[in-house]
Amino acid sequence: MEKIAIFPGSFDPFTKGHEDIVLRGIKMFDRIIIAIGHNSKKSRHFDLDFMIQKIGEVFEKYPQVEVITYNELTAEIAKNYQANFLLRGLRNTTDFEYENTIAQVNKHLNNQLETVFLITNPSYASVSSTIIREVHKYGGDISKFIPYQL
Ligand code: ADP
Repeated sequence: MEKIAIFPGSFDPFTKGHEDIVLRGIKMFDRIIIAIGHNSKKSRHFDLDFMIQKIGEVFEKYPQVEVITYNELTAEIAKNYQANFLLRGLRNTTDFEYENTIAQVNKHLNNQLETVFLITNPSYASVSSTIIREVHKYGGDISKFIPYQL
C-alpha cells in the first residue's frame, strides 16, 4: 500500500523549518501532500496563491510532493486523499502540548490516521512563521528563514 502523508499547516509563510520536515518526510513516505489550511474569515499575511506557487517551486524536483488548500477538518481531508499519516514537526514542549492534544482528537475522528512527529532540525529550531511574519511586517529581512525569494 502506498504510504501517503498529509502535512497540514497555515504556512503563513512556509519556512525552511517546514521544508526540512518535508525533505525528511520524503525518505519515509511515497507521497506527501502539503495542505494549507485556510479560512476565508481569517486573513493571511502572505497571499495564499503566492504561497502555493512558491511551495510548488521549492519541490519542483519532487513529483511525490503536492500542495493543496483546504477548509475542513484535517482528519476528513486525510480520508479524501487516502492519507494514513499526518506529518507534523516538533520544536519544543509548547509544540508538544498542542500537537499532543490535536493528535488525540484526530485519532478519535479518524482511527486510520497515525500522526508522525519529526523533531526539528537544530538549525531551524527557532524558525517560526509567527515571528517571521512580525519581522516582515516591520520591514526586516526574512530571506534567511524561507526557502524561496519573495
Ligand atoms: P499550524 O498553524 O498548524 O501550527 P504551521 O504552519 O505553523 O501550522 O506549522 C505546521 C507544522 O510545522 C507544525 O507541526 C509545526 O509544529 C511545524 N513546524 C513549524 N516550524 C517548524 C520548524 N522550524 N521546525 C520543525 N517543525 C516546524
